[in-house]
Amino acid sequence: MPQHTLPRAICAHCDGFPTVTITTGTRTSDGQRQTITAHCPACHATTPARAHTRIGA
Ligand SMILES: [Zn+2]
Repeated sequence: MPQHTLPRAICAHCDGFPTVTITTGTRTSDGQRQTITAHCPACHATTPARAHTRIGA
């Protein structure tokens, strides 16, 4: 039985990068970098991600 692989739809809004981690520059009390995770407002990170984009140092 042949397996049909459907082409995965890439969100046009985020271009396949629905989740973005942004480093705020501040550190938590644990000494970890405080980050903000933002999801694409169009697809709400429900589309397959090509990569996890990280912004900031
Ligand atoms: Zn999206």
